[in-house]
Parts: sequence; C-alpha cells; structure tokens
Amino acid sequence: MRALVKRTAGPGLALADVPEPEIRDDEVLIRVRRAGVCGTDLHIYTWDDWARRRVKPPIVVGHEFAGDVVQVGRLVTDVREGDRVTAEGHIVDGRCLLCRTGNSHVCPYTRIIGVDRDGCFADYIAMPATNVWHLDPAIPYEIGGIHDPMGNAFHTALTAEIPGAFVLVTGCGPIGLFAIGICKAAGAARVVASDVNETRLALARRMGADDAVHPEGAEAAVRAATAGLGADVVLEMSGVPAAIRQAFALARVGGRVQMLGIPARPIEIDLATEVIFKGLTIYGVVGRRMYDTWIQMSRFLRAGHFDPSPVITHRLPLEAVDEAMRLITSGEAGKVVFEIA
Ligand code: NAD
Ligand code: ZN
Repeated sequence: MRALVKRTAGPGLALADVPEPEIRDDEVLIRVRRAGVCGTDLHIYTWDDWARRRVKPPIVVGHEFAGDVVQVGRLVTDVREGDRVTAEGHIVDGRCLLCRTGNSHVCPYTRIIGVDRDGCFADYIAMPATNVWHLDPAIPYEIGGIHDPMGNAFHTALTAEIPGAFVLVTGCGPIGLFAIGICKAAGAARVVASDVNETRLALARRMGADDAVHPEGAEAAVRAATAGLGADVVLEMSGVPAAIRQAFALARVGGRVQMLGIPARPIEIDLATEVIFKGLTIYGVVGRRMYDTWIQMSRFLRAGHFDPSPVITHRLPLEAVDEAMRLITSGEAGKVVFEIA
C-alpha cells in the first residue's frame, strides 16, 4: 500500500510502498479515505527536538482520519466490515489508575498513532476496536477525518461553563476556529477571538466570532463586552507566550482559563497577581475525554448545531505532502486534508 513514511531520523516524509498492516484479534483494518494534517505531523516532518526525542523511525505518520472497516479481528464484536468510522488516536492501557477512574485522556501509558505506532497517512491503518468511533450516515468522511482536532476544541470548550459566558479565544488555528463555533452553538453571550494572522481572523468571523481582533485589540474588545470586568472563560489556543499572558490578564476575577496551546519552552507568569489573587481556575487540556467528548461532538454535529466545514480550506493528495507542510507553516490555510480514497 501507499504510505507517508518517516524512514530515517532526519527531515522530510517519503511516499513509499509498504506492506499492509496486519491486525491482532482485538483490532480492525480500516481503508483510509480522508486524513487531517496537523502541527504534530509538521514537527515530525521538520524533525525538531520534540520529534527527535519521541519518534522512532521507520514509522507511518498521521493521526486524524476517517474511512471504512474492511476486516475485523476474531475477538471484535461491535464493529463490522463496511462500517464508516473514525477513531480516537490515543491508545491507552485501560488498566491504570487514570483509565479506571474515567480519565483515560491522561493515561500515562498512552501510545499515539502516527507518533508511537504506524499512523493513517496510508491506504490502510490497523486500530484497536475499542478506539473506533462510528460516524453518523449524515457526516461526510472529510468531517470524520477532522474529529481528532475538533474533539480537542470540544474538550476545551465544554469543560468550561459556556452558556451565557463572555469568551475570549486566543489563537485562531484550526482548533481555535472550531472552538469559536462550538462556543456560539453552546450559547456563549459573546465570543472575542484574537490572532496575528488576517486569513485566520477572517475564518474566525465565518465561524461566528462576534469580534475577531489582533492581540493589541483584544483587551479593548474584552473590556467593552464585559463592562471592564474581563472574560468569564478564556480558551488559550495558540501556545504563544504573549497570548498566554494575555489569557491570564483578560480573564475576569474568579474566571477560568482553559489551556490547550503548547508553548515550546517554559514561560514566566506572575502567579500571585495573575492567578492566585484573581482566584482563577486553570484547566490543562489533553486530547479528548474518552468518550464523553466524542459523544458530545457527535450529538452537536448530528443536531446541526455546529458546522466545522469552513475551517477546511485545502484538499490534497498524499503526493503533495511538501505542499501540505508548506501551507501549514505559512498560516495561509485553515485545516488541510489529504484525500486518500
Ligand atoms: P496553530 O498552532 O496554527 O494555531 C495557533 C494560532 O495562534 C495561529 O493561527 C497563530 O497565528 C496564532 N497566534 C500567534 N501568536 C498569537 C498571539 N500573540 N495572540 C493570538 N494568537 C496568536 O494550530 P492548531 O492546530 O489550532 O493548534 C493550536 C495549539 O494547540 C498549538 O499550540 C498546538 O500545539 C496545540 N495542541 C494541543 C493539543 C492538546 O491536547 N493540548 C492538541 C493539539 C494541538
Ligand atoms: Zn491507563
């Protein structure tokens, strides 16, 4: 089969002919149709410090996908050949303290497809049946293929109290853009979104942001919306130190900051004034809650409350991997999706 492979420890990804994966008794084989390209893939492509420490080539890359089940293992009971599916890409042990207390999203034994084992930028992928998520017939493969980052946004937004809230979203990458639409659908009173990139601010408006502003304008927009008080909820979706500082500064006293963006290195925060004496609640977001996030996401989509499709701006074949990575680096794109079959 065709697959985008990191063959050796170094930059780049090669489109190669590799053997089809073999499934274990508790796994299914999925014909991949659509696959989302993400910042993590870019880290592996450029072979930065994180990738060097984490990834062991050779490996097939990619972790966001949807497709059709074409084979099921002997022990699989609830997934059938022909099912239209996507999947949770974090494979957890299911037995540790976190898993057994309903917190699998922070299982210390998590293995991620396309990072720790073969991924989905390929004709076929093997997945444990427990990770498979059935797609409603009304949901196109393309939307199925972005359930992973959309799930990050659902997790971030819906673990805060959004109905009636004044929300600030710092960072309008694909996940921030999804989050804007989700907050509007969940009944936020007003959503202010900030980014440094005009293309992304335009997408933020399309996703329903009431104000889409450059970071310098965020404070005025939040103060105007909240009679000077600050945002009830801030979703930090950039990982950029300046935006993280602004997230704390513009959260109101007693407010909540949901932290999804991942800073590249440690940053300095004045905890006394920015967090403690403001009585802030901070929530660190990891992946998607299993499987509360998935249930909420499917129900929002099925109810038609939320349309993620404007976020997808580019569709490419696997051959165009270099162009896909260029688009993501440039910030010209929203979500980039590989059309595989
Ligand atoms: P992204 O990294 O492209 O989005 C970041 C956005 O922030 C960009 O549009 C950028 O222009 C904007 N930005 C830069 N400086 C800014 C500033 N000062 N103020 C406001 N915005 C600013 O794309 P993404 O895929 O949406 O990822 C968002 C973040 O979430 C990244 O840091 C990524 O690593 C992280 N992430 C976390 C998880 C998790 O489980 N915690 C999962 C996936 C991604
Ligand atoms: Zn576990």
